[in-house]
This record gives sequence, structure tokens and C-alpha cells, in this order.
Amino acid sequence: ALSIGIVGLPNVGKSTLFNALTKNQVLAANYPFATIEPNVGVVNLPDSRLNALAEIFGSERILPAVVSFVDIAGIVRGASEGEGLGNQFLANIREADAIAQVVRGFADSDVVHVEGAVNPQNDMETINAELQLADLQTLEKAIPRFEKEIKGKKLDPSVLEAAVAAKDALERGIVLSGSGIDLAPIRELGLLTAKPFIFVFNVDEAVLTDAARTAELAALVAPAKAVFLDAKIESELIELDPEDAAELLASTGQEESGLDQLARIGFDTLGLQTYLTAGPKEARAWTIGKGWKAPQAAGVIHTDFEKGFIKAEVISFDDLVATGSVLEARSKGKARLEGKEYVMQDGDVVEFRFNN
Ligand code: GDP
Repeated sequence: ALSIGIVGLPNVGKSTLFNALTKNQVLAANYPFATIEPNVGVVNLPDSRLNALAEIFGSERILPAVVSFVDIAGIVRGASEGEGLGNQFLANIREADAIAQVVRGFADSDVVHVEGAVNPQNDMETINAELQLADLQTLEKAIPRFEKEIKGKKLDPSVLEAAVAAKDALERGIVLSGSGIDLAPIRELGLLTAKPFIFVFNVDEAVLTDAARTAELAALVAPAKAVFLDAKIESELIELDPEDAAELLASTGQEESGLDQLARIGFDTLGLQTYLTAGPKEARAWTIGKGWKAPQAAGVIHTDFEKGFIKAEVISFDDLVATGSVLEARSKGKARLEGKEYVMQDGDVVEFRFNN
């Protein structure tokens, strides 16, 4: 499964956030380098459509899609030179499919800031500079190897071309994800600045309720998406029953918890979407890539569904809710039989027909 790596300077709240994400009680310690072991946490993607489907079908249980987060060791200035936990950090982050950068926006004189003061823009620049340096080093090592392999006719020249273009861009201070360079030939290098980014601002209540300030911070990172949350409140929210949680959330001016926002935006940033199935046993969301066709989507349930694919009966979620049942949807012409070339849409409610 695709995963999102959590990065950020020490003491910005990564462990606190990750604990809340996983409901694990990993020690969140108040000193740099507290997070050492990489951990994976799997969180549910909130999806109210599943509740509606469970009602229509009388489903016994609900199985939402999930998003995986990887807790990666902290980064400090100089990480690309192997200072702190640099090298281990870089190896772990290379495997993530997207990166969530946690940025400290909370003021708390009891919690040391590694760079002396709370300054989100400065912190992001520190991290980004380290990621760019790390990518430059990766490319500087790879390019001579590529040259050799091309001489020996063991490699396509497009690989070297992409690597050189990427290196030039980085030297000019351009982050790879926005560079327009075709990075497909050098995907295996796991270049960090080529990955999609999310920014998670760990702020206090004063900022959460200050729309002008959050807009200002969001603008700093656009077109990347920003999530605003208070990691401490998030870790309280998960301990509460839904009613009390909603009340606490409302008191901070939010409609959706930070973790739900993070799961939703993370899922989208990974280029994923869901389709839905429902029956008396379960209402379930299945994870697929955007643009996937019906047979490939069927393969997520079972490889036999893909191999023996005949048709997919598709009802859009809205049509199903409007008509109230599959039978009604069929009689009103809202159930479509789609073939092998059908491109799945988010929220399709599907039943596959297949040969065994
Ligand atoms: P990490 O080094 O980035 O993993 O940071 P931690 O999650 O260990 O947090 C460092 C310290 O900051 C801990 O003492 C946390 O309790 C505290 N902390 C984390 N998030 C918040 C927050 O939103 N507000 C406040 N006031 N303290 C926080």
C-alpha cells in the first residue's frame, strides 16, 4: 500500500500527531531525537457514504479505506551531511510515496525549539533545503554510474538525460515536483523533492480560529495542501466519545478533526480514490488509483475478478441514495452495465460480473 512519511524538525509534534494517528502510546518525549524507530500507522479514511450504504443494505459492518502514515526519525539542519539521524532518516523517507511535513506553529516555552524560535517559514526552508541537498547528492552519485552503464549499452540514455535535467533544476533551487521534468526514467532513485507534499501546521487554538493567519500559512505552501491542527487536541479527541469529540471540535471552530482532514488530503495527494460495494454483510470502500479501469479495480477485491471480468454494474452513490435501493435504481435506468474500458469514478457503487 502507498504510504505518507511524516517529517519535520525535532519537537514540532510529530510523535504527538503520530500517536494520535495510530492511537498508539509511543512515548512523546520532550527532547530532540525522541523518534527513532520508523513506525507505520494505518488510519481510516472518513467516508459518510458508507454509513448511508449500510443503512440502505442493512450491512452488518462498515469497512472504510485506509491511509498509511510512516513515522520517520526527525531531521535537523545538516541531515544530508549525516548529522543527527540524517542517513537513517533519508533512507526511510525515500520509500514513502508522499511526504507530510509537520511544521510547528504552537508557542510553548516549556518545549524547546531546536532553532531557537517558532518560525514556520524558516523551519520549512530548513527542511526543504535539506531535502534538495539530499537529492543533489543522490544525483551526483548516480550520474557517473549512469554514464558508465550507457557506455556499456546497459541503460537507456533517457535515464541520464532525466538525471542531468533534475540536477540542473536543483542547482537552480527548483524543487523537482514542480519542475515539469519527466522523472519517470529515474523513479527508482526515490528523489525526495519529486514526491507530493502536504504541510501539517501544528498550531494552537488561537491560530486555528484565526482565518487570516491560516490563509497566510496556506498561501506559503500552495499549491501543496495545508492541514491545520493542534496535535495535543487531536490526542484528546481520540479518547472521547463521538458527541464529546464533536463538542470539543466545535469549540475550536472546526468541523472536521485534523486527523480526518489529514487522512482525506493524504489520500487525495497519493492520487487515490475509492469505489464502494455494499451488501447485508458489509459496506466497504476499495482503494484504487485515479483513472483506473473497471477490470483493474475489480482486481483489488480478487485477482479472479480481474481475470474473469465480464461487466460491472455501476450506480453512482447519489443515484442510489436518491432512488433508495438497487431495484429502484435499476427500474429508473440509473444502473449502468459498464465494460472493460470503463474508467472508475469516485463513489461508484459497484457489483462485478465475472467468469470463474
Ligand atoms: P517530535 O520531536 O516532533 O516528535 O515532537 P513531539 O511530538 O515529541 O512533541 C514535542 C513536545 O511538544 C512534547 O512535549 C509535546 O507534548 C509537545 N507538543 C506537541 N504538540 C503540541 C501542541 O500542539 N501544543 C503544545 N503546547 N505542545 C505540543
